[in-house]
Amino acid sequence: MVDELGKIRRTHLSSSLDPSLDGQRITVMGWVTAVRVHGSITFTTIQDRHGPIQIVAKRGVCADEARSILSALKPHSSISISGEVSKSDRAPGGIEIIPHEIRVFSAVTKTPPFEPAAISIKNIDTRLESRCIDLRREPLQHIFRARSSALSAVRNYFLDNDFTEINTPKIIASATEGGAALFSIFYYDKEAFLAQSPQLYKEQLTMSFERVFEIASIFRAEPSRTNRHLAEAISIDLEEAFVDYNDIMERVADIVMVAADAVRQYTGFKFEPPNTDSIPQYTYQELSERIKDAGSNMEWGDDLHPSWLRKIRLEGLYFIKDWPMGPKPFYVKTNAENPDISESFDLMYNDLELSSGSTRIQDRHTLKSNMQKKGMNVDSFEPHLNAFEYGMPPHAGCGIGLERLMMALTNTENIRDAVFYPRDVDRLGP
Ligand code: ATP
Ligand code: MG
Repeated sequence: MVDELGKIRRTHLSSSLDPSLDGQRITVMGWVTAVRVHGSITFTTIQDRHGPIQIVAKRGVCADEARSILSALKPHSSISISGEVSKSDRAPGGIEIIPHEIRVFSAVTKTPPFEPAAISIKNIDTRLESRCIDLRREPLQHIFRARSSALSAVRNYFLDNDFTEINTPKIIASATEGGAALFSIFYYDKEAFLAQSPQLYKEQLTMSFERVFEIASIFRAEPSRTNRHLAEAISIDLEEAFVDYNDIMERVADIVMVAADAVRQYTGFKFEPPNTDSIPQYTYQELSERIKDAGSNMEWGDDLHPSWLRKIRLEGLYFIKDWPMGPKPFYVKTNAENPDISESFDLMYNDLELSSGSTRIQDRHTLKSNMQKKGMNVDSFEPHLNAFEYGMPPHAGCGIGLERLMMALTNTENIRDAVFYPRDVDRLGP
């Protein structure tokens, strides 16, 4: 049997209960986390969005019906309890509730795959298969609430700095970051792709809005089975007119700082985000020399492998700038003095890449010849190239992976725990 919500409403959240309410009649709502029957007393703990509440049903003090309903409940059932507040030194918040009326909105009959209060569960797939209840567990509640605060702080930073929030198409006609890492889809009678990044659109939007940002999904079809790659991730993208990559590095440092402060101020749990005071900058050249000195056989032009970065003991937040031109996408600008290196940077946390950014090319001919050198189909980019005929400003920007940023700020090992419903090579559900 299922009770309806009807006209009944919650009067108090767990956080607003305290001993001064002793004797008052209130209504609370939430999910059952534990039921313990001790002879003639049933202790039930429920959880609402702020924390736990203890319900004590004692024979002779509350109706037998209320006690028998509570005694039969399984964890995760969603219920409301109307009853009387009673002071109690042993209960959370210093109060417990003597139930008078119970509504069971949804009675659980299945045994859950893990306890609601479990702190760690070995197999992440067990959790992901039951993600809706996994997300009720305390460690994840803290990560996602801190994530929400960080996002809000970042959004405010952008708005305070005169950026306009944009939304660009996620269904696109051709690759922007190059290569095979694209999901293809049916688009009416044509083939289309899911966007790897908002790159070309955000560049074009600097022509009309100067400073733009987007916080949205990017899709990467790389078959990477790691703790840092998702098939669908959230990117905090920004693009700005009349600046270069040095200015963007300052922006990124500011953004990471406001996000870290938001996580620090999150009151539910004491996260210890890395120091954001002054983020060191190393050139690719400098680090490649250190890596070679440490005995690794890297070649100039190689990507800097996480194991190499670990070997030279780079820790905390740092920038790697002035990357070789070779592996960079076609829209990245060459350094004016040295054509082999690009005006680009990555922001790192230990060996994890959090962000990539660069000064972009604003000249149509250079852009076109870069595309040709990379063997790209120039014709399919003609609409984009056309934009460069109409006053493209010098511009620069970057993308920051939100999940990767949250891994760094909340000390989370697996990127799947920084996203509500992860998508990866082996997972397309729930
Ligand atoms: P990596 O080398 O770590 O695979 P990338 O250099 O291919 O990353 P970029 O194209 O530079 O990634 O994307 C900008 C940012 O977006 C990255 O620094 C990262 O934070 C995030 N990002 C990119 N790909 C993924 C992914 N598959 N899963 C999660 N985040 C990602
Ligand atoms: Mg990158």
